[in-house]
Amino acid sequence: MDCLFCKIAAKQIPAKTAFENDRVIAFHDLFPQAPTHILIIPKAHYTTLNDVPASEAALVGELMTTASQLAKEHGFDEAGYRVVMNCNPDGGQSVYHIHLHLLAGRKLTWPPG
Ligand code: 5GP
Repeated sequence: MDCLFCKIAAKQIPAKTAFENDRVIAFHDLFPQAPTHILIIPKAHYTTLNDVPASEAALVGELMTTASQLAKEHGFDEAGYRVVMNCNPDGGQSVYHIHLHLLAGRKLTWPPG
């Protein structure tokens, strides 16, 4: 499959890994939008959030708990951080393999653009 994030998960394209287990890998965004910007993805390919069946709810939950664990490890849990998953063009998705953004290290504004 010609998928950038599948290739990162398979180590065919390099990335700065922040966490990895059998199901999930987290790596630093190449074009960070905050001092810390980490992408957390399932190793299994799901094109958008719309494609994740309810039976994989635990996997999506693991993306969230991985984000909170990384926030703790990087010392952002008290100051705060943001997690966001973009879906399809109006949601701002540009890479079509689901990923949770973990953004931290500056005061983030709301609403997002
Ligand atoms: P999206 O716009 O789909 O929500 O987020 C895709 C993210 O992937 C963007 O923040 C973008 O900077 C990041 N990205 C795009 N290409 C690469 C790459 O080759 N390596 C890494 N580490 N991040 C990438």
